[in-house]
Amino acid sequence: MAASPFLINVADLVGRDARSRNETIDATVDWGLELVRIVEDEPIHVDVMLHPISGGIAITGHAEFVAQETCQRCLKESERERRIELGALFDRTGDDETYPIEGHEINLEQMVRDEVLLSLPVVSICGPDCPGVVDSAQTELNTDIPDDEGDSRSPFAVLKDMFESGD
Ligand SMILES: [Zn+2]
Repeated sequence: MAASPFLINVADLVGRDARSRNETIDATVDWGLELVRIVEDEPIHVDVMLHPISGGIAITGHAEFVAQETCQRCLKESERERRIELGALFDRTGDDETYPIEGHEINLEQMVRDEVLLSLPVVSICGPDCPGVVDSAQTELNTDIPDDEGDSRSPFAVLKDMFESGD
């Protein structure tokens, strides 16, 4: 079984000689929400600094990925490059505000996934000029415009037809 690409050995970040160091990860993931998801062909790129702090490890850095968004009005799909800042604490307390250090390892997957999903738009519209919006507005306008052909179908025209056919 292949190890998670987000797993990092942090044995060197604990103890007196610990020094901050950089770590980069490129991994394909299948994270997403209903109308927005990370493009699976484009690996997410994670670039972080690991800082030894008292009782744990602080993470700072960023992630870059390509998100595919489905416009909820016109259903058009578009891809957009996104970049987010990352910041988190890993320690052994296991409380709600930090991520765990397990043995000599930390796993960045949960933290990066949390931050990525939080950054994605819940409402996805392709743009302010989305044709889906224009179309529905146009349809409403049209219902108020008198239709020339409507005259021939007026109640009087129908009655006239009935009398004429009745003769
Ligand atoms: Zn649209």
